[in-house]
Formats: sequence, structure tokens, C-alpha cells
Amino acid sequence: MSIKHKLRRFAGESYARVLFHTGLHALVDKIMPRRMLVLAGHCVSAPTCASLPKDMKIRGDDLERILSWLAKRYEVVTMAEGARRLQSGEGSRSLAVLTMDDGYRDNLTHLVPILQRVGVGATVYLESRPLDARRANWTHKLFWCLERMGPEPFVLRYTEIGRADRQGSILLNQLVPHGQATTYHIKRLLKYEVDPLERDRALEALYTELGGVDRELTDALYMTWDDVRALDRAGVEIGGHTVSHPILAKLPADAQAAEVRGCAESLQRGLGHPVTSFAYPFGRNWDFDSSSIDAARAAGFTTATTTHAGVQERGGDSYRIPRVMIDEDAQLHRIAAEACGGYALLRRIGIDLSA
Ligand SMILES: [Zn+2]
Repeated sequence: MSIKHKLRRFAGESYARVLFHTGLHALVDKIMPRRMLVLAGHCVSAPTCASLPKDMKIRGDDLERILSWLAKRYEVVTMAEGARRLQSGEGSRSLAVLTMDDGYRDNLTHLVPILQRVGVGATVYLESRPLDARRANWTHKLFWCLERMGPEPFVLRYTEIGRADRQGSILLNQLVPHGQATTYHIKRLLKYEVDPLERDRALEALYTELGGVDRELTDALYMTWDDVRALDRAGVEIGGHTVSHPILAKLPADAQAAEVRGCAESLQRGLGHPVTSFAYPFGRNWDFDSSSIDAARAAGFTTATTTHAGVQERGGDSYRIPRVMIDEDAQLHRIAAEACGGYALLRRIGIDLSA
């Protein structure tokens, strides 16, 4: 981490603590325009998501504390409801939305009881292929293999296994001498720097060699259609997150449209009603492009969210709604500084301390 980055983190942290502990956040909330804060997580730390890296889970008691704090000060609603109220001007308090991505099993077993205790809604964005074909995306096969082998033996075997992904093998081997053969670096490299089809083939071969069975992995991690319908009945909004969780920007426009529309149609079939909220897979600005936005609009989605931090204000772009990621390191004072408009206030004068 560079000195500049460290200093920015320190400043953002100190600013958030001052706002939070002095109660200044309540004053900032009053002077800043009405806004919608959207939180983004994946799963609650349940045994079912033990294999996921820590930046994909949040402890249930932490999540409950954050939601309870927000619910005392803001309207905590679903994405569809939040976007509607922000645009129509209905209500007076600012809005907060909890979103969870991908569709993990604990969203029904562990998240719903928390939502019910706090008395708030949430939106869960689903990939449709795990539901329709019981197939998990490549990241889960990667985590599964890494859990069994450890990173360095993984790199070694990935390289040997039929050389299905030559470029990936070369790049992965370069991580080892630099001590960067970690889950984080391996995932990042396989996500952005290799051909996705070759990577999928290589991973599939390794996964099968280790005895992996697609259906078992999907059943262990993801909800079924019955679970999703139960989530829908419990008042959780269901949103779309593509069919197979690709980096949309890497696909031609027609393939992007098929990923987005295919998911919308599947969810509508499974639920018996349309869905209107969408989240770009991975969600960084370089993970989607103007074709992704066109595809979301054409498939009937009225909002789409990213994973860049910030808050949405009235009149903001509905297809680039920012979200603040929450995981095991999530801190209430930093979320509070975003919710009250504290970081937005600084952004107005060109200082971004939120990330
Ligand atoms: Zn996702």
C-alpha cells in the first residue's frame, strides 16, 4: 500500500470517527441533500459459506448492529423502493438499502432472521445459472481447489494440467517468487488477465481431477428455486445479476444482452413476476460498459448498481448507482460517515476519502 493510499485511509478513518463519536453526523445529515446509501455484501458468516474469502462475508451480529443503527436514522428499504422514493420525493428521511449479491443459501437461513428482527427490507441479486442448471461460476471452483491444495501447489498443477490455459500458467508462475501466490492475487489474475474460456477449461479439469462435483458445490453454496421463492415471500426483493457472472465488458454486445436478458427471463419465470433491479457482476467501472447499460435497460431493469463507493442523490444516473462494500472488516463509523453524506460533502470539494 502506497504512502498516499495509507494517508488517505487514515484521513478517511479519522474523519469518520469524529463525525460518528461527536454526533456531528446528525448535523451533516440535515445540511446535505436527501440521499440513498446502498450497502453490498455477499453472505453472512454461516457454515455454508466457509470456503468463501473473508471479503465476501460479514458476521451476523455486525450486520445486525449496522442495520439497527441505520434503521433508527434512515428509511431502510429495498432497492426498488429506495429508488422510487428518492425520485418521487416521497418521505423525508434519507434512504439506506442492503443488497447481497449472487444468491448464497445463508441469505435465506441467516439473513432473513436478521432482517425480521430489525424490521427492514433488502435486495438480493441472483445469478440464474446456479438456479436453473445447478452450476457454480469459476470463482467457486477456484476457491474450492485452493482450499484443498493451497496456493503454490495449485499454481504448479494448473500449469501442468494439459496446459489448457498457457497464458494463465505463465502469469501464475510469476506470482510465486514474489510471494504473491495468494487467493487474492490468483483470483485477480485469472479474472482480468487470461482468456476466460481457457481459464474455465483449465479450472474445470483441475476441479474434476480433485473429485469436485458441480451439483454438490452449487447445492452447498447457492439457494434453490424453492429457497428463492421463500425469500421473495419473506419480503426480500429479488434482482438480476446475469446468467453466469461474467465480466460483461469483456463480451460483445449481443452476448452481454443474452446474459442480462436470460437472467431477467429466468427470474420472472421462477418467481411469477418481473424483476426491476440489476447489479453488474464484479461492478467496477471497467467490468461493464455502455452495452451493459443498454442491455440492462432493454431487459426491463430500471436500476443497476456498481461497486464503487458513494451515495445516490435524486437525479443521479440510475444505471450507475454506487454501493459501499461490507465484509468482515466493515466498520460502523465509516458506513455512518457515508450514510449521513459526510464523504459526499468532501467529494463536493474534490476530496474522496471513502474508499
Ligand atoms: Zn457477484
